[in-house]
Amino acid sequence: MHDGSKPVTDAPTPPPEPFVSPWEAPDELGALFDNNRVWAQRMRRSDARFFDRLVSQQSPRYLWIGCSDSRVPANEIVGLAPGEVFVHRNVANQVLAADLNCQAVIAYAIENLHVRHIMVVGHYGCGGVRAALAGPTDGLVGHWLQQVELFRHVHARRLNAIADPEEMADRMCELNVIEQVSQLSRLPSVITAWDRGQPLTLHGLIYGLHDGLLRNLGTSLDRRPETLNWRKAALRALWARPPANR
Ligand SMILES: [Zn+2]
Repeated sequence: MHDGSKPVTDAPTPPPEPFVSPWEAPDELGALFDNNRVWAQRMRRSDARFFDRLVSQQSPRYLWIGCSDSRVPANEIVGLAPGEVFVHRNVANQVLAADLNCQAVIAYAIENLHVRHIMVVGHYGCGGVRAALAGPTDGLVGHWLQQVELFRHVHARRLNAIADPEEMADRMCELNVIEQVSQLSRLPSVITAWDRGQPLTLHGLIYGLHDGLLRNLGTSLDRRPETLNWRKAALRALWARPPANR
C-alpha cells in the first residue's frame, strides 16, 4: 500500500543526463581548444606578463573596419598582437550611418580608446561586392548589400566600359572602399573629433587574397574635408591608375 510520501508513476525514472561542463570542448571544437592551450603557453613563454598587461588595459592605435571574410584576419595580416588593433567586421566592410553596431564601435574607438587611425580595409575577390555587382539579391544578405549595389549604379558608366569581368570586380572592390571612407568622414563621431583637435586619420586600404599584400588606395584624411571635393579627387585618382590587383 502507498503511504502518500512519493508520487505514484508507472514510468521508470530515467537515468540522469550526463553533465557536460560548458568549459569542456565538444568533439567538433576539440582542436580549437587544443590550439588555444598551445597558443596561450607560447605567449606566456615569450612574455611572462603578456596576459597581465592585457587584463589591465587596451590601448590600440588602430581601428580596422574590414570584411567578415575568413581569409582576411585583421591582426595577422598586419602583424599586430592582441590589444593593438580594435576591430569591426561585416560583409563588404561597410560603414552605414544606420548600423548601430558599427557606429558604437567607431564612437568607442574614438572617444574612449583614442585611436589615431581608422582603416577601411576591402579585399579583392569580395563575395559581398561581387553579389552586389551581379544585381539584387534576395533575403537579409541582399538587404545588407543594398548600399554597395547603389554604388555600383553610381559608377555604372565607367564600370560598364570595362570588358573584363574580373577587372570590373576588382575596380568595384576599390570603389567600395573609397565610398566607405567617404561615409566615415561624414560621421558625427569623426567630425566632432576633428573639430576638437583630436589626431585622427582615415585610410582606405585593400588586401590581395592572391599575394597577401595590403595596398593603400591613397585616400588618407586627417581633417574635416570639403567632402564632395575630396570624394571627387579620390575617385579621379583611382580611375587614373589600373586596379592594384592587375
Ligand atoms: Zn569580402
